[in-house]
Amino acid sequence: MHRRSLLALPGLLLAARAAQAQAQTQAPFAVTASFSILADMARVIGGDRVAVRSIVGPDADAHEFQPKPSDAVALREAGLIIRNGLGFEPWLDRMLSAAGGSPRVAVATDGITPRMMEDDGHGHGHSHGAKVPDPHAWQDLRNGRIYVRNLATALAAADPAGAESYKANAAAYAARLADLDAWVRAQIATVPAAKRKVVTSHDAFGYFGAAYGVTLLAPQGISTDSEASAADVAKLIRQMRREKITAAFVENMTNPATLDRLAREAGAKVSGKLYADALSGPDGTAPTYEAMFRSNIALLVPAMKGEG
Ligand SMILES: [Zn+2]
Repeated sequence: MHRRSLLALPGLLLAARAAQAQAQTQAPFAVTASFSILADMARVIGGDRVAVRSIVGPDADAHEFQPKPSDAVALREAGLIIRNGLGFEPWLDRMLSAAGGSPRVAVATDGITPRMMEDDGHGHGHSHGAKVPDPHAWQDLRNGRIYVRNLATALAAADPAGAESYKANAAAYAARLADLDAWVRAQIATVPAAKRKVVTSHDAFGYFGAAYGVTLLAPQGISTDSEASAADVAKLIRQMRREKITAAFVENMTNPATLDRLAREAGAKVSGKLYADALSGPDGTAPTYEAMFRSNIALLVPAMKGEG
């Protein structure tokens, strides 16, 4: 290095030093995800380059979420905001319009063909009987790969210096999700077709059921913000008895009371806790999107077979 020539140009020297300091201590790129599953995906794709915050945390219910003032700060400080879309986070719309400005927002479900469901008349502000998109698209691993592609594209656009790294991480991640998808199918295939029926607390598994050939029945609608009606519960109990459905599950972020009662009255038992709309904490069985599938399958398969 030609020290003298740099000293002759003090401005350049300062600039070079500043760039060096920035490269050494560069703050990670700030990403805020609406809920834990997207936060995990962003961490896998972003690696060390990103610092990810999740507004709705582990084991928490994103349907019925009350933002705190610190959540508004997390939105304001983010270089990229990641959301699910399909009506999953109505509270985020309110937060974003309150925050103003023009934050960079990526919608993870872009390009996914949503399943449409009867609205229960309570959730999402639609009238009873209207068709609404089912937001739980992540429960099909093929959609998970679309999420990964969308997140990698959004990260690369928001932080171009990391584009190559995001692309490589996303490619490796997508390959793992493809393997996991094949594993899920192989596991489900070990259950006799007539036994692939499960009761859960709310309709979070519509995509899962359609993708993997499992019938999932729920007393509660696609959003957790409605109570199951007595008539719906009674109807489901009759169906469980008639079809000899013995596999019933609570979900990690919903109140188990209705399902406990329902299972008891139908002569079934609650076989455990499925991860639906949120991951577990780090010490739970589903701290990542990938672990969530392994944990759910490990419970679902024996329960459907009647071994659970
Ligand atoms: Zn849900």
